[in-house]
Amino acid sequence: MGGDPLEELGLTPALRSRLKKLHLHHPFAVLLHTPLRYEDETRVTPIASLQPGQPACVEARVVHTEVTQRPRKMLKVLVRDESAALVLRFLHFYGGQIQALQPDTMLRLFGEVRPGLLGAEMVHPRYRILQAHSPLPQTLTPIYTTTAGLSQERLRYCIQRALQHADLEELLPLEMRQVLQLPGLEESLRMIHQPSDHGAVQALLERTHRSWKRLKFDEILAQQISMLLHRERRQKLKAPPLPGSAQQRQTFLQRLPFALTQAQQRVVEEIDADLVKPFPMQRLLQGDVGSGKTMVAALACLQAISSGYQAALMAPTEILCDQLFRQIDARLQPLGISSVWLTGQLSRKERESALARIHSGLAQLVVGTHALLQDTVVFKALGLVVIDEQQRFGVEQRLLLRQRSEQSNLITPHQLMMSATPIPRTLSMSYFADLDLSVLDGLPPGRQPIITKLVDDRRRQQVIERVRATCLQGGQAYWVCPLIEESEVLQLQTAVATFEYLSGTFPDLQVGLVHGRMNTQQKADCMMRFAAGQLQLLVATTVIEVGVDVPAATIMVIEHAERMGLAQLHQLRGRIGRGQQQGVCLLLYHHPLSSLARARLKVIFENQDGFEVARQDLLLRGPGEYLGIRQSGEGLLRFGDPERDEALLRDAALWAKRWVACAPHEAQRHALRWLSSEQELLSA
Ligand code: ADP
Ligand code: MG
Repeated sequence: MGGDPLEELGLTPALRSRLKKLHLHHPFAVLLHTPLRYEDETRVTPIASLQPGQPACVEARVVHTEVTQRPRKMLKVLVRDESAALVLRFLHFYGGQIQALQPDTMLRLFGEVRPGLLGAEMVHPRYRILQAHSPLPQTLTPIYTTTAGLSQERLRYCIQRALQHADLEELLPLEMRQVLQLPGLEESLRMIHQPSDHGAVQALLERTHRSWKRLKFDEILAQQISMLLHRERRQKLKAPPLPGSAQQRQTFLQRLPFALTQAQQRVVEEIDADLVKPFPMQRLLQGDVGSGKTMVAALACLQAISSGYQAALMAPTEILCDQLFRQIDARLQPLGISSVWLTGQLSRKERESALARIHSGLAQLVVGTHALLQDTVVFKALGLVVIDEQQRFGVEQRLLLRQRSEQSNLITPHQLMMSATPIPRTLSMSYFADLDLSVLDGLPPGRQPIITKLVDDRRRQQVIERVRATCLQGGQAYWVCPLIEESEVLQLQTAVATFEYLSGTFPDLQVGLVHGRMNTQQKADCMMRFAAGQLQLLVATTVIEVGVDVPAATIMVIEHAERMGLAQLHQLRGRIGRGQQQGVCLLLYHHPLSSLARARLKVIFENQDGFEVARQDLLLRGPGEYLGIRQSGEGLLRFGDPERDEALLRDAALWAKRWVACAPHEAQRHALRWLSSEQELLSA
């Protein structure tokens, strides 16, 4: 290719560089720069009939122009048509303007009238000097977001050129358009940029017009096609088939103190079916907090290990790694499987020995934090990568771990990602490039719903009494310190102060403290003492947010709950009610509440189900922020909305499959048209 795709439009270099400032690098992208609103200049309104608050177009003759100094410096122009007079006021103006607005000049104005001291006036109307006979435009005038040095008029001109010269060949098969009743692409873009139909404006602005339906459908279709193409590419990679050992699995299951739930069994089967294939699995396991994902991961690891390969398990925090390691190692060790764990906090000697065992293959299971990603980590034969709390890792990080195997040029390990931040089905369908989904619905038996209470923090004393009573009766409690985003140091201070205060208040209880600045050993010791029941009350920062599993803890106090996000609150709350006892979560909040904080607290108060919390969260925040990818916007839809346009999404998914199957080349052209306009390809 080479060159500048915008050259096709025959625009000056200056205009092209302005368009690039708006991130419009392709003719098609220029056409996707859609109007903010429209102004109606197709009809002229007599001055006498102008209505305040309604923008209108006026043609009038200049009667008098002057610069006044009071009440402040401004340009005042008196104009008149056959019906009445009108005063124009400009607070910002140039000398040239005064010259141009000499008496008798004919103007076409666009603006809103308002009643002034001296009769009707308009402040800063848009205006144009009329030559002898300037016909009125036939179509509504679109108004766009623009950038310095690119006037609305010039931007309109660019878009006009793009409508004429961009490649708008209709790519969608006729059948698809007919069945879905989609208008043509070119027709739709023209309608959006230059509506000739006044009646359509409302629908255009609300993006419910059929032209918008076409645009959204095309976008979603392009995304679905690119996912399918990713999948095809993945299926060409080689992965080791991992049939596992039926006998070892049997032993593993027999030794478990519980039976797998139906949901766990189903998900294990889905994973098994992937693991025996000769190309890499790419599966996301979604399960609410406490749904029992760890045992599913352990079984997958066993499958890899008993097939003669290594398994790596990566988690975002040290505490979580520690817990995972304990839970899984305890199950696998009796089967003669050896594990190591690798975090940033190992001593040099420990680290070297761990690395050696990973490289030699002696370590069959490796559990670790980001430390696993360093290139000093080399596996002998990595068959499976499990990533817990995958939303905490970036796409690149997940891909990096794949390449840690000595044979990574020959084989790609299978990948299982796990997340307790449930991603609504519609969103995952439209966001994740090529990912299969398993859903662990339902919790292990015997769980009682957690009681959630919202408590004004002026009633803190009652909360303290409640915690004391619970702990004295043999229960255990978490006390979660507020999130202080601006400063980790401040958060630490708060945690320490809270710990000191509560230790003083509860001389009869054993109180522990865990926070992010402690080293692994300290954290692990503290968690162990809590898990063993030696501590009754654990003061913690949000480091305990994910994955921590102490079934005897039944009560959780969260300070300044209004500062936390929904996912975080739900995760925290999921730390309790893990055993047979009733769990109680007390959310302390501080007045006054912002409307968003109020809305969040209401959601967490009313909902137990993580999927519902997630759906509400998505509604409150929008997909970009929800997925934490607002900056990169990676893979996000610009026009379509997976929730609102669910029907379109389903149609697009269906048609993408058919199209890729029967005319892959055409389908790819469609995807590329959209993707190159976005200047980025979806990453796997
Ligand atoms: P999460 O999905 O949040 O990672 P965990 O895997 O930590 O959840 O499981 C939560 C708790 O449920 C653990 O204490 C675990 O031992 C227990 N558990 C898991 N599966 C079952 C089951 N089938 N029956 C009973 N308890 C289970
Ligand atoms: Mg977990």
